[in-house]
Amino acid sequence: MAKKKKPFTKLQCEICKKTNYFTRKSKLAAEIKLSLKKFCKTCRKHTLHKEGKK
Ligand SMILES: [Zn+2]
Repeated sequence: MAKKKKPFTKLQCEICKKTNYFTRKSKLAAEIKLSLKKFCKTCRKHTLHKEGKK
């Protein structure tokens, strides 16, 4: 299991927990927890999207 994964990050809506966006992190940003305000189709409004984990 020595495979290196590309730092892809899911952005999940904080309200409905739906994954709406994918983002790619740089190595520098990998330490920082992302939280962005983005439009959620399910909630039909702008909500806070946080990076999701498995
Ligand atoms: Zn939502």
